[in-house]
Amino acid sequence: MVFFWPSTAIVFHVAGVVIPSSNLKNLKIVPMRPQKDKSILGIEGTAWNLSAAIINEAGVIAEAESSYQPLKGGLHPRMAAQHHAAKIEDVVSRVLDKHGTDISAVAFSQGPGFGPCLRVVATAARALSLTFNIPLIGVNHCIAHIEIGRWLCGVDGPVVLYVSGANSQVLSYRDGRYRIFGETLDIGIGNALDKFGRHAGLQHPGGPKIEQMAKNAKNYVPLPYVVKGMDFSFSGLTTAAKDALAYASLEDVCYSLQETAFAMLVEVAERALAHIGKDELLLTGGVGANQRLCEMLNMMCQDRDASFFAPDKKFMKDNGAMIAYTGLLMLNKGATISIEDSAVRPNYRPDDVDVTWI
Ligand code: AMP
Ligand code: MG
Repeated sequence: MVFFWPSTAIVFHVAGVVIPSSNLKNLKIVPMRPQKDKSILGIEGTAWNLSAAIINEAGVIAEAESSYQPLKGGLHPRMAAQHHAAKIEDVVSRVLDKHGTDISAVAFSQGPGFGPCLRVVATAARALSLTFNIPLIGVNHCIAHIEIGRWLCGVDGPVVLYVSGANSQVLSYRDGRYRIFGETLDIGIGNALDKFGRHAGLQHPGGPKIEQMAKNAKNYVPLPYVVKGMDFSFSGLTTAAKDALAYASLEDVCYSLQETAFAMLVEVAERALAHIGKDELLLTGGVGANQRLCEMLNMMCQDRDASFFAPDKKFMKDNGAMIAYTGLLMLNKGATISIEDSAVRPNYRPDDVDVTWI
């Protein structure tokens, strides 16, 4: 059966799986390799960044990415999926060209994320698993953000502040799961910054531009500070920041938005450290690139004799290495999935995952 995938690539059904024909080009079938010295291919593409990487126990071997940049407005799931479908052959081929096709397993972001984007990535991962005859691993994207941070920072059981576009959570591992101690009640901090940025005429993504603008601020403008128990909310704060542009400069509002939102995150992270009795905090997610957020978290940790950890920012944003590394941890515990069980999970929560590798 032949039909059209988003964009123009022709796809085939093989063993009930939809495979873009372009992904089959140049691939040869290799026998299943022994499980020592494993190299894992990871593919990420839950939203804006399509990224592939090959890693082994020693480190990241090859990386490639292509990010979707909307011409105007925010991220559109269908447009992002079309970008991913158009670029996935190139991105995966670049890492395979660098490392060779001798890989032990293919891991992919199973969720959470935009359904159309997740389906492009899952389809490619299934195709590679079948073609190379290697195990398929469905990775929870949020947990991958945590695991790459733990790996690169060498930190064992931290409280984690995970701040990205769609997600904002405070988590820690306990009894076989990452437990969520606090989370956003509405939008993620990254989405809040990006929404405000678009309103103020800054091109997506707004987060980094707001950070620059904030450096030239002169005054703090009071904005709503919304922490409820261990949860936080950014929607009303974003609306109030938009309204504040009527009477304050863009620089002042950017600064005030950051200070208010980040103080909320710092408060909840600190309370989690205190309640759980931990003295290590790990920052992850794309918003972690913000220097002011790092400064505020570091200050809080110093005040309570805790240690603050943040990996290089290229591993805090969405990236294929985090999927490959979590795939390696899961492969070591036999947590592979069949094609039949590989449906994407747009609302996949980190506390749904049995963490067998800790
Ligand atoms: P992720 O989904 O984890 O890749 O994170 C993407 C989010 O990170 C977007 O909402 C960006 O606006 C945000 N972001 C990236 N760099 C910064 C920065 N320097 N300050 C604040 N937010 C940022
Ligand atoms: Mg992410």
